[in-house]
Amino acid sequence: MENCLFCKIAAGEIPSNKIYEDDKVLAFYDIEPQAPVHFLVIPKEHICCADAIDSSNSAIVAYIFEVIAKIAKELKLEKGYRIVNNCGEEGGQTVKHLHFHVLGGRLLAWPPG
Ligand code: 5GP
Ligand code: ZN
Repeated sequence: MENCLFCKIAAGEIPSNKIYEDDKVLAFYDIEPQAPVHFLVIPKEHICCADAIDSSNSAIVAYIFEVIAKIAKELKLEKGYRIVNNCGEEGGQTVKHLHFHVLGGRLLAWPPG
């Protein structure tokens, strides 16, 4: 997808601080962390948003959650963490390539603002 920031990061055209990568997904630290640990997990395939998940592409979401659980163990987030997906304008999505935020390392307030 042309002009998609996270497609460019997935392709290595824009550098990122990588945590994990394979042929399907990339995990990298958020450039503007909102918690002591804040990373993003994206599919390498361009999917605009959670709203575009259907039976043809939902397997990647399950896989992303497997990857998150592995990384959380490696980063010793045993006290807990939060997985966030912002979808669409009112959901606060600014980058229109599906991504899951993983935040941890501090007590996170609920509900979010
Ligand atoms: P959204 O607001 O779409 O849910 O989340 C987009 C996230 O991408 C934000 O937390 C923002 O800080 C992060 N971000 C935006 N541009 C870059 C970048 O160039 N590199 C990295 N690592 N993160 C970015
Ligand atoms: Zn993209």
